[in-house]
Amino acid sequence: MILENGVIRTLEPAMPVARALAIAGDRVAGGVGTHEKALASPDRVDLGGRCVLPGFNDAHVHFPTWSLAQREVRLEDAESLDEALSRVAAAARGWPEDRWLRGRGWRSGDWSPAVEPTRQALDEVTGEVPAALMARDYHSLWLNSAALALADGDLAVEGGVVELDERGEPTGVLREESAWAFRDRYLLASDDEFVEAMRGGLKIAVSRGVTAVHDKDGWLGAPRFWQRLAEDDALTLRVWQSLPHDHVGRLEEIGLRSGLGDGLLRIGYLKVFMDGTLGSQTARLMDGSGVEITSGEELAEIVRAGARAGWPVAVHAIGDRANRDALDAFEETRDEWAPLGLRPRIEHAQLLTEEDIARFGRLGVAASVQFSHAPSDRDLADRLWAGMTELAYAYRSLAHSGAVLANGSDAPIEELDPLAGIRAGVLRTLDERGPWHPEQSVDVERALEATILAPAWLARDERRRGKLVPGYLADLVVLDRDPVAIEPEELPEVQVVATMLGGRWVYNPPPW
Ligand SMILES: [Zn+2]
Repeated sequence: MILENGVIRTLEPAMPVARALAIAGDRVAGGVGTHEKALASPDRVDLGGRCVLPGFNDAHVHFPTWSLAQREVRLEDAESLDEALSRVAAAARGWPEDRWLRGRGWRSGDWSPAVEPTRQALDEVTGEVPAALMARDYHSLWLNSAALALADGDLAVEGGVVELDERGEPTGVLREESAWAFRDRYLLASDDEFVEAMRGGLKIAVSRGVTAVHDKDGWLGAPRFWQRLAEDDALTLRVWQSLPHDHVGRLEEIGLRSGLGDGLLRIGYLKVFMDGTLGSQTARLMDGSGVEITSGEELAEIVRAGARAGWPVAVHAIGDRANRDALDAFEETRDEWAPLGLRPRIEHAQLLTEEDIARFGRLGVAASVQFSHAPSDRDLADRLWAGMTELAYAYRSLAHSGAVLANGSDAPIEELDPLAGIRAGVLRTLDERGPWHPEQSVDVERALEATILAPAWLARDERRRGKLVPGYLADLVVLDRDPVAIEPEELPEVQVVATMLGGRWVYNPPPW
């Protein structure tokens, strides 16, 4: 097949732009002019001036959870408690009492008037239907009385917070480990529900140009969901899967190393949490505030155990203290993981100190960030991290310091939509306001690298995908215009036209 008459952005510095691209089987065959005449009778696709890029790779997504979230009550943009409640009320009408009413996306910090959620408020609109509403950042869970009754008062968990009212009764809000323990015990959907939801999720993902994801839902059993989809030939993107770090001992015992799998689905890395989040006020800061989920010493032990078993570690760290501790742990253990070629990463890296920014590149620890978080968190960060936001979401500083900068969506926290992430990284705004800390914006090329090349490198795929050069997989996205050539203000208008995975159109095949 030959794609011609367009702009091919190869992401290969030696030849960044081509006018046509030849594809043979599942690979890029070469630029036209070299291989064109060797192909017997190629299919020709007229790009009509459109732009082709290597497919997008979302470096941080909770794919099963995001897929399921497409079917839940969505509270992301609710501006008040009342608005959130009225959406729940609409969903609760006629809802059977023996089924969970699930929702997600609330953030009380966005509400005006400022108020915290309570079970009583929820009871008024749900009655006896058990209702569970996950906070936007996933670190708090808002339950009604029918839901709380299931636990019969058994809510306290180490590393967790049970919010209490002035009488000492649970308010209905659980945080951190308490929220997650409740979710794991009472809220998980069935495998069939997940797999069905993921079929729908895959259709959305390919329509947004996504050809690969780094999934974070290993704890949920994502590998077996992906396997079912792969067996049905329904897997239309490549997966680099995390597993919870506490499996590392068993992985070592049976000799299962990072990278096991095939071209579509591979088990890749271990996931650890250092702290909470900005929105739940549980991010661990230098002033000592926040929640410590894993200490620096514990992380160092996990990284060592990971290295012995052949696994890189991805660690969630939001606050500057959490990031400091994580970097210290990677530095202390560097002699154990670096010689093995393992590629560790800090997820989010939202608040950093000046001296820590330079350590990412120096140590070889990737910053796996979410460009979209900067503009969507700006009001909250200005308030909760007042005086500290100079080095919050400091993507340009990270990139300039030599860090590997990878971009993901953290869907369902943000939408799984790489073009939205790229826009956010470049424009640093989501609305009519000017950019938030424009000195930390990245240019379009850097944003593309972070959304295509860096995630491929993290999955050890840098010689296989992420560029449109001969021998690489023909994973690509066709856009209606060239995002590098336009004015940044025009970025919101860029559309995905079609998506190809391994030489096969998986979204909107030509002609267009
Ligand atoms: Zn996440």
